[in-house]
Amino acid sequence: MSESYSTVNPCNMCMPMGTVLAFKGIEGCMPLFHGSQGCATYMRLYLAHHFREPVDIGSSALSEKGTVYGGAANLKKGIKNLIAGYRPKAIGIATTCLAETIGDDIVQIIREFRIEEPLASRLPIIPVSTPSYSGSHEEGYARALLALVEALAKKGEPNNKVNLVIGSVLSPADVRYLKDMLNDWGCSDEFILFPDISETLDAPLVEEMPTIPEGGTPLRDVADTANSRETLTIGGRFQKDFAGAFLEETYGVKSSLLPLPIGLEHTDLFVSRMEELTGRRLPGKYEAERGRLLDTLADVHNYLDGVRVAVFGDSDIVVELTRLLTEVGAVPAVVATGYSSPGFKAEIRANSADPIILCGADFTDIHDQVCKGRVDLLLGTSNGKQISQKEKIPLVRVGLPNHDRVGANRQLILGYEGAGRLLDALTNALLEERSRK
Ligand code: SF4
Repeated sequence: MSESYSTVNPCNMCMPMGTVLAFKGIEGCMPLFHGSQGCATYMRLYLAHHFREPVDIGSSALSEKGTVYGGAANLKKGIKNLIAGYRPKAIGIATTCLAETIGDDIVQIIREFRIEEPLASRLPIIPVSTPSYSGSHEEGYARALLALVEALAKKGEPNNKVNLVIGSVLSPADVRYLKDMLNDWGCSDEFILFPDISETLDAPLVEEMPTIPEGGTPLRDVADTANSRETLTIGGRFQKDFAGAFLEETYGVKSSLLPLPIGLEHTDLFVSRMEELTGRRLPGKYEAERGRLLDTLADVHNYLDGVRVAVFGDSDIVVELTRLLTEVGAVPAVVATGYSSPGFKAEIRANSADPIILCGADFTDIHDQVCKGRVDLLLGTSNGKQISQKEKIPLVRVGLPNHDRVGANRQLILGYEGAGRLLDALTNALLEERSRK
């Protein structure tokens, strides 16, 4: 890889953006950025293009004065306006690069605000520090989950439930799939699923749009995570900040971590853990889905065996997509993520034969390696489209962002069903390309 001192078209997104995805999964929660207005505008547009939904984000709109003398007044005004305009049940405040650089103490500012505005004294206002120059949206998401349980979890009576924490950025369709699975298993009352973006980032069209989309994990359930018997986190394995560890250390709630259930092997792993936790066998509907996935693997193996693929995007998703490729006999030739983690590299090396691995990558690096790696297919975010167009290699879009196709909010990649759909998409992209030649 060439030595470069700048990042061109990074393979990750901004740290505060990750917090929005976590805060949007909490009922009635509004995100607010402490920083200049452009940060909120950029992220609102970025997420709205991906989810095809309005994604409102408040901003303290720091100006030159706030930058020089401190942004407390702006932030307090921003919180006040947000309360007046949206009547939120909670507010999640993330810092931007500017607020971090000038060193504003948002915890102290929130404390002062509560004293000055007694009406807001009981409103949960959750601060999270997200200097984007030191991390990606994946880290922002993990930090926001941690901040939520730190602020909201409260010791009470044991509830004998399991916290199912979604530790990685997934689509609303994936979260719906998990909820359906819990329902079909007959155990949805025994789990606290958190965060839940299944409705909030994929809301039905109604005549009178609510100011804050309905849905999300209820605040009382987040509070109750302290009283559960166990936390199972899926995804987020490469993150340092970890809500499950906090609940274990602070409230003695046993914590375990599993990879995202993508592909055959890791969905099997999730299912067997769920069977242990519930004491019930996988419902027949999913046994049939598993059988159909085996059938799909047999059907598409002929096409995908030996096909060289470049995979890029969020670290958790990329690791699992790489594993799915090896399950069908395809070759992960280039594996790239914008996140930097030794754990990521080790996991990829353990499961695939000598791929080019890029951590902290941008799309210039990925492009170079795609050319060197004799790649037949691209699998990743829509940011790979320039490589696809230039090199005439088909791109199957998976993950965030997907800006140039519709349906990202309905794209299912989890479970046996999601794996089958991904394999279909990969095979069809390859067949489409071959039919053109
Ligand atoms: S990288 Fe920093 S300055 Fe840029 S949008 Fe994100 S928070 Fe704002």
